[in-house]
Amino acid sequence: MKILLAEDDLVSGAILRAHLTKLGHEPILVKDGAEALRLFRIAPTQVVISDWLMPGLTGLELCRAIRQLPLRNYTYFILQTSRTSDDSQQEAMDAEVDDFLPKPVKRNELAHRIRVAERMIRQRGEAMRQISRLARFPEDNPNPVLQLNLDATVLYANAAAQRCLAVLHCEVGRSAPPRLKWLVKQLFESGSHQEVELTVEQRVYSFTATSIVDQSSTYVYGHDVTERKRAEREIVQLKDEAIKLALHDQLTGLPNRVQLATRLEQARAHARRHRQRFALLMVDIDNFKSVNDGLGHEAGDRLLQLVACTLQAQLRTTDMICRWGGDELVILLTELTGCADVVPICERLSRSIGAAVARQDFHTTVTISIGYACYPDQGEDLELLMQQADQALYDAKGAGRNCWRAFTQFPAGEIRKSAGELFFRLSNAVREDLLAVHYQPVVDAITGLPRSLEALVRWEDAEFGKVSPDQFIPLAEEKGLIVALGRQVLTKSLRAARHCRNHGWPVLMAVNLSRRELIQPDFCEEIMKRIETEGLAPEHLMLEVTEREAFIQDPHCRRNLEMLATCGVRLSLDDFGAGFSSFEVLTELSFHQLKLNMGLVRRSEQSRCARIIEAVVELGQKLGLEIVGEGVETQTQREFLTGLGVGKLQGYLFSRPLDDEGLAGYLAQFPRSCAAAA
Ligand code: C2E
Ligand code: CA
Ligand code: CA
Repeated sequence: MKILLAEDDLVSGAILRAHLTKLGHEPILVKDGAEALRLFRIAPTQVVISDWLMPGLTGLELCRAIRQLPLRNYTYFILQTSRTSDDSQQEAMDAEVDDFLPKPVKRNELAHRIRVAERMIRQRGEAMRQISRLARFPEDNPNPVLQLNLDATVLYANAAAQRCLAVLHCEVGRSAPPRLKWLVKQLFESGSHQEVELTVEQRVYSFTATSIVDQSSTYVYGHDVTERKRAEREIVQLKDEAIKLALHDQLTGLPNRVQLATRLEQARAHARRHRQRFALLMVDIDNFKSVNDGLGHEAGDRLLQLVACTLQAQLRTTDMICRWGGDELVILLTELTGCADVVPICERLSRSIGAAVARQDFHTTVTISIGYACYPDQGEDLELLMQQADQALYDAKGAGRNCWRAFTQFPAGEIRKSAGELFFRLSNAVREDLLAVHYQPVVDAITGLPRSLEALVRWEDAEFGKVSPDQFIPLAEEKGLIVALGRQVLTKSLRAARHCRNHGWPVLMAVNLSRRELIQPDFCEEIMKRIETEGLAPEHLMLEVTEREAFIQDPHCRRNLEMLATCGVRLSLDDFGAGFSSFEVLTELSFHQLKLNMGLVRRSEQSRCARIIEAVVELGQKLGLEIVGEGVETQTQREFLTGLGVGKLQGYLFSRPLDDEGLAGYLAQFPRSCAAAA
């Protein structure tokens, strides 16, 4: 270690130098304080040992002068003195002397002092390094960090922020750009934390101000959200495509059943309000089978397309035509004054087909049969109307085809599943707790080991037989029965989860939820209470919700979901890609999981669907979501999804939904505790 020695007494100086050299140091001896200061300025040493009393600059003055220089704490200053009074020691301490060395110097004493000095220097060095590391932290931060005062003058900007400011023609010391100014104004004036976005050199930054730091300044942080924005744009496009795909028939480009259901609801609401009529027409191509069989599928497809666009051309924009399936089409005629209005329309539709087909090379005549029912003449129940139109079509065919019939009545003795009857029996089943719950495993895509269970409600009615949830859940939702139904399912499935856990299968249980359930004000308490009753933790439950347009807009839904997520309950966005999917809800609510819609999975062999799946998976992964592919029925689908990195799968390929007994048998195949909720 280089040590600067200031000592006017030649003998003392020589002894000190000899001792230090022996101790392995490099002493530099000078005769007075002024010379010591001059040398120190040129080449500072980490240790200075100085006599107190010297001509010119005294030891104390030397110490004070050194402490004025930059790196004031770099040097350990030892003052040599024979003065021992408290006052003189106090004076030395005030001058920031680090230690004293009594005169005359003893070698041991000196060695001891130097060791202390070395230790202190090491510790100071470490502290300094740490401080400078911390000081560099905001500077090295790739995101912009700024400090602004009350009038939004920029007090500090790290390198990233300086680049942003430069583009916005601003710099440290000047007034911040208007949008950041606004941010600070909001904070200081109303305490509200806002967010603004700024685009700088094609990158988008989202800026927020932190709480007031010292009443007069605040920090503003920017995050680079360029990637998120890009992903959002992509998903909006995807959403549009997915909606189109999910709501349209691919062959004819006509709306499909899903859209019809929505339009019918709207038509009924409109007709009710304005006391109007509408008619539902069921159209069937009479000789479709002979074209399809005789001229091939391609000709069949062409014929369907021709019929679809010919009929569509005959309708008003307020009407609607949809492909019902096969060669059946459904037409919704709105704003009718009476049922009789339908007759000339049927006539026109039939004629248009004859003419259009004659112009093409089908080498056969093509005719259509039509059956129809009117609202409200034939009733208000939409499902019933469909059945009536269907019955009328049946009548038209019976009458020799190429004609149209209005609904008159159902053949005597035939039981029809009218919605009213179905609902009556369903309410009964719910009241008497007759619904069952089956469980379908979700498995690890690679190992096939169970990861969670999805609870699916089952209803077997004495008269109607097994009724699909797709049929009775919407009914229960519409008629306000879903809350009671949902509670029964939740109770049963939590009990099943408890049972599994007791037997060594720590499963995660997923339960489906409807919108109606979610807007219940006591929804969260209800769920938490039930979890507790079964002795489970919130993490053992996952709630599957499908996202509809109204869903995210509903503040009750959102609040309930957020609250549950905060409590630890997991959220899964079900049927993603089914047409209502929105990226927005994924970024705004803390979803844990995203379930790829079964329809997409089933069509994963079509390149368009494969592309959509790929993009959805990629975006889901970017958002850190767990992705589940549902409705997996074939090995090809499994391999495709696994290849994309989809971690979990569900579908008949692995297991159908199982009753309690089936579940026990299924789980028994696997080593215990492998079903641990991942
Ligand atoms: P979901 O939530 O999308 O449930 C998946 C549906 O796909 C189930 O039909 C299941 O049995 C079926 N599935 C599973 N794997 C395959 C497969 O590989 N191939 C095919 N073709 N189908 C498969 P399910 O049980 O008929 O339920 C239909 C829908 O009813 C559910 O769709 C869900 O939205 C609703 N749902 C069922 N149970 C409840 C419930 O307790 N509460 C509520 N609110 N909704 C429920
Ligand atoms: Ca589900
Ligand atoms: Ca689903």
